[in-house]
Amino acid sequence: MHEMMVAQSLLAQILDEAAKQNAKPVAAKISCGKLNAINDEILRFAFDAIAKDTLCQGVKLEIEHKPLQAKCKICKSIFKIEFSKPQCEKCNKQEFELLPDAPLILEEIEFQNG
Ligand SMILES: [Zn+2]
Repeated sequence: MHEMMVAQSLLAQILDEAAKQNAKPVAAKISCGKLNAINDEILRFAFDAIAKDTLCQGVKLEIEHKPLQAKCKICKSIFKIEFSKPQCEKCNKQEFELLPDAPLILEEIEFQNG
C-alpha cells in the first residue's frame, strides 16, 4: 500500500522535526502531484494508525494536490494541463511537453503554542 509508505515517511519527518523543536505537532501540510495517486482518506487513516501512541497522535494532515503542468513548445509558457482541453492557455497550440509531476513534499508542520 503506497499510502502506508508515505505515512511512515511523513511520521518519521514530523517526529524528527518535533524533536528538534522540542514541541508537540498538531497539524502538517503536505503537497503532491496529481499523478501521485494519493488517496487522502487512506493516507489519513494510515497516518493515524501509526501515529497512535507517538508524539504525532492526533496530528491533522492537510493534503494539497498540485495540478500537472506542461510547457508550450511554441510560446514557452508553462500552464496547468486540463485533460479535457490539452492545449496551451496562451497560444492555444497543442504542442507541449509535460513537466514532471510534483513530488510529495512535507510543506510545513504546525506546533502547539506554549
Ligand atoms: Zn503556447
